[in-house]
Amino acid sequence: ALAERLDSAWKKLRGQDKITDSNIQDALKDVRRALLEADVNLQVVKEFVAEVGEQAQGSQVLSGVRPGEQFVKIVHDELVKVMGESNVPLAVADSAPTIVLMAGLQGTGKTTATAKLALHLRKENRSALMVATDVYRPAAIDQLKTLGQQIEVPVFELGSDADPVEIARQGVEYAKTQGVDTVIIDTAGRLQIDQDMMAELARIKAVVQPHDTLLVVDAMTGQEAATLTQTFNEQIGISGAILTKLDGDSRGGAALSIRRISGAPIKFVGVGEKVEALQPFYPERMASRILGMGDVLTLVEKAQEEFDIADAEKMQQKIMEAKFDFTDFLKQTRLMKNMGSLGGLAKLIPGMNKISQEQLEQGEQQLKRSEAMINSMTTEERKNPEVLASSPSRRRRIAKGSGHSEKDVMRLVGDFQKMRGMMKQMGQGSFPGMGGMPGM
Ligand code: GDP
Ligand code: MG
Repeated sequence: ALAERLDSAWKKLRGQDKITDSNIQDALKDVRRALLEADVNLQVVKEFVAEVGEQAQGSQVLSGVRPGEQFVKIVHDELVKVMGESNVPLAVADSAPTIVLMAGLQGTGKTTATAKLALHLRKENRSALMVATDVYRPAAIDQLKTLGQQIEVPVFELGSDADPVEIARQGVEYAKTQGVDTVIIDTAGRLQIDQDMMAELARIKAVVQPHDTLLVVDAMTGQEAATLTQTFNEQIGISGAILTKLDGDSRGGAALSIRRISGAPIKFVGVGEKVEALQPFYPERMASRILGMGDVLTLVEKAQEEFDIADAEKMQQKIMEAKFDFTDFLKQTRLMKNMGSLGGLAKLIPGMNKISQEQLEQGEQQLKRSEAMINSMTTEERKNPEVLASSPSRRRRIAKGSGHSEKDVMRLVGDFQKMRGMMKQMGQGSFPGMGGMPGM
């Protein structure tokens, strides 16, 4: 009965073969919910999930996972692709200075990010100049100057009566005379998008012709990040973004919205108030954070690592020709072991918890015993279990070598022959996975 229970559990484990609309319905719902909880814009979620769902149709499902689980991994990989496979660095001008323009609403972290970027450049031995054009908030210029002192980066300013466009223009001129590598222009923001702000930003951009225009977005902005990005991109044109305050609870869905809507890469993320708290944007990490389905991802990744399609096809061929031998068996056993203990796997898979701990342990124990006995076989014996069936002396040797009884060896050989017979009957059937293994 244990054998049957384990056998059906393994069938469940193997899942179904291909991804279809009907076998990923639940996963589709889960993914949609996860993206919305991560604050990805509703429209973006709808389009993205529909696209990936369509692409995934008919994909082969890995052994050891279910279609829904595999689908989550496909979504994850697609998220990585959409957000950019590797991080995109700051633009570098052909001839210095490189000009970077910061844009965004008030309080998103523009001024902080300006200093963070300057420090980042300094660490790469590139000189920076920060330009203070926020003349509207009383303390804004002082804030930048304080940060400048802290990181030892000069600040260009003309006080709070000057015209922001003029400050920016002169700042860039000054940088040229000083041979500065990169100029970062901090700008004013409003609490909401307004036409004055946009017009001023557009004028600054037209005058200084930045190599990089970075939209600074607070990760906590939520759904609004989409509209925000669209407006800034249409009216100013952005070449990248910085997602700030990722040290908070936000799952970072804004990253997907920003990328989908503007096509511009997220270049950096802010992870704290300190000037050091800036990191390059890693799409892989962000995708996992947005999906928040670490368990499923780990499971599928493990299965992917261990499951070599070519190997499986070879195995299937052997099975069809009833050439499956003890060496193949050992391979499968190891594959299973690499995927973690049976118990560990069972925990990750819904519906597997019906198998008792005791049964799992028995199963693992049995596998270990089988492995020990096979390890004591010669290559010839592994290839031809028949020689064992007819030779008590060989069986005795194996029993001794593996620390088991001759009866155990007999049983293993008998089970194995039975399994082979079954495989032969299955004939053209699909790869039977672990079902019907000796001792199970
Ligand atoms: P600005 O109005 O866009 O220039 O925004 P500021 O740079 O003045 O930042 C507004 C507030 O957000 C300040 O209190 C910053 O310390 C804080 N802040 C900026 N970036 C981050 C970040 O990545 N994490 C956290 N926790 N706070 C940040
Ligand atoms: Mg500011």
